Amino acid sequence: MSISENLKYLKASLPPGVKLVAVSKTKSDPEILEAYNTGQRVFGENKVQELAAKYERMPRDIEWHLIGHLQSNKVKYIAPFVSMIHSVDSGKLLEVIDREGEKNKRVIDCLLQFHIALEETKFGLSPNEARVILSSEEYLKMKHVRICGVMGMATFTDDTARVRREFQFLHDTFIRLKNEYFADHPAFRELSMGMSDDFRLAMECGSTMVRIGSAVFGARKYL
Ligand SMILES: *Cc1c(COP(=O)(O)O)cnc(C)c1O
Repeated sequence: MSISENLKYLKASLPPGVKLVAVSKTKSDPEILEAYNTGQRVFGENKVQELAAKYERMPRDIEWHLIGHLQSNKVKYIAPFVSMIHSVDSGKLLEVIDREGEKNKRVIDCLLQFHIALEETKFGLSPNEARVILSSEEYLKMKHVRICGVMGMATFTDDTARVRREFQFLHDTFIRLKNEYFADHPAFRELSMGMSDDFRLAMECGSTMVRIGSAVFGARKYL
């Protein structure tokens, strides 16, 4: 199936409250434009350099999301334009994003990434680490970041019961943090979970944002 057929099919299966982030990492400009021409405006990339380069070349009304691990020293390359950073996994990184937001006179939308999978290689906070950040004086002073919710990646496995438990844990974490820290913040409403192989399960567990690559663009040749 073509990219536009994939998108049409996918969009028909997403309920109205669920946003599709089309993950375009490793994909070419014509492939991205094919998706764009069907009306898709939200794209996700996992590498800073690739994101910044594509931002320069692609139409300006695209909302670019960074979904991959972010090093503090690279925030400056995306701070002027990024629509959302899904991968905040430390207080130090959040401070740098806040500083770069200030330099660019904007507020940068962020999600806190949680470690919900078995794989050690996946990044993310524990709920208590998030509480330490959200209770810190440093965080309370930040004016150029807005935390809009949470993100996580489930274990890569066929064990759907396990994946469901991980998504439920993330949903639970989202609800708890909302009650504890964001009760008066309507912007805290995103639960970014679900990829090509598990987005249906993620939506059953309350996902509001699915990050889908191969089911839109076809298989990647490398990661
Ligand atoms: C690559 C990637 C995705 C999309 O993966 P697919 O399996 O191709 O849908 C989603 N989230 C993150 C963080 C990724 O790096």
